[in-house]
Amino acid sequence: MKQDFTSDWHTLTDEVMSGMKEWRQAHPKATLKEIEQEIDVKLAGMRARMIANAAMASAAEEQPPKCQQCGGTMEWRGEHVRMLVTQHDREVELKRHYAVCPTCNVGRFPPG
Ligand SMILES: [Zn+2]
Repeated sequence: MKQDFTSDWHTLTDEVMSGMKEWRQAHPKATLKEIEQEIDVKLAGMRARMIANAAMASAAEEQPPKCQQCGGTMEWRGEHVRMLVTQHDREVELKRHYAVCPTCNVGRFPPG
């Protein structure tokens, strides 16, 4: 498991905060409802990227899984991109390794 997957989260929060400050200056007469909606949209973007970061950290595990049929060690074969749509239609791109057993020639994705 990559330990540093939260390392750029400070950048994410900075972007939300400075973006919100700019938006507020550009919309001095915004209503409470409009402010709430804008914060929701900005947080949704941050949320989507946090999900991708956290999900990819576990997908980056070094050891391939064991084959469920023969118990042998499977091999990583390339990457598979899975799109996940979260709140406010934000798309999260998840890159997953695909594991294949060289003996049985069966493949599977790690759970999750
Ligand atoms: Zn096998």
